[in-house]
Amino acid sequence: MILVTGGAGYIGSHVVRDLADRGYSVVVLDNLSTGHIEAVDKRAIFIKGDAGDPRVLDRLFTMYSVKAVMHFAASCLVGESVTQPLKYYQNNVAATVCLLQKMVDHHIKNFIFSSTCATYGVPDQPIIHENLPTNPINPYGNSKLMVETIVKNVSQTHDFNYIALRYFNVAGAHPSAEIGEDHNPETHLIPNILRHLQGKTPYIEIFGDDYETPDGTCIRDYIHVTDLSHGHILALEFLLQQQDPKTAEIFNLGNEQGVSVLEMIYLCEQVTGAKANVKIQPRRKGDPPKLVASSQKIQNALGWSPRYDIKAMIESAWKWHQQHPNGYR
Ligand code: UDP
Repeated sequence: MILVTGGAGYIGSHVVRDLADRGYSVVVLDNLSTGHIEAVDKRAIFIKGDAGDPRVLDRLFTMYSVKAVMHFAASCLVGESVTQPLKYYQNNVAATVCLLQKMVDHHIKNFIFSSTCATYGVPDQPIIHENLPTNPINPYGNSKLMVETIVKNVSQTHDFNYIALRYFNVAGAHPSAEIGEDHNPETHLIPNILRHLQGKTPYIEIFGDDYETPDGTCIRDYIHVTDLSHGHILALEFLLQQQDPKTAEIFNLGNEQGVSVLEMIYLCEQVTGAKANVKIQPRRKGDPPKLVASSQKIQNALGWSPRYDIKAMIESAWKWHQQHPNGYR
């Protein structure tokens, strides 16, 4: 049995579906604070609860023989983390400490952690390798880096293996378009552009056009949610196959391609055939100018490679938005 915390969320629900497709038994733990019950694959067992609730975890780990935990449950908005830092330290750090304690108590030794490129801060290199210094500039990145450190210490002391995956910007939807991205409120770039191009908002806001980038807008590296999910499955299988357990790895997951906010608007216009109105706004607090991955490490270690380019990502997100104009509602 694999425990997926946050399995009703955007990324977690895709991983649950892919795990079920591969024949894994899955139990999902999600408090549905931001996730959607409709997103949880029917083949998974669903438990409504907090990933940091010791009583729920004791019950769950007693009831099911859990071989690995994939931990997605978290708060994950850079801008919100600046205005509500304690929410991030509570949901992302304190809750994970509790989960790790219960894993140790119940002798569950395989952990896959959703980390982030926000751990790097403002890198001084154009392409980000895992061995670059970490220096987060927002509480979200800080909270994830703290957990990376905690997990490392746990693995140094206990019989405990982990892989932390540092995601770059996740986009797109399942090829079936049955599950996809639905946040409320929506803050992410691609869904905001597509919602605007569907006529739901009068304009798309660009948060800052005076960055030191070629067109002045922020550059991010986007990865399709299916490719990201595949990285998790490979990481899980790697951990489960280890005979001599002591795995402590950090891998980037990105497409190694930078796309600016303006370029993204242009690409979305091309895919949808609609024309955007843009409104330049001040910079959003906590945003680094440019984040582009090297994902050579996971390519070499686990044989992962991305299958979706940026256009295919937008097309799959667009299909989801067209088929679910009100998300899961
Ligand atoms: N962004 C924007 N307008 C929006 C949403 C996002 O200009 O409506 C910018 C944001 O400032 C950042 C980039 O798009 O530079 C990606 O933001 P997103 O929230 O999608 O992901 P993040 O990089 O914060 O994880």
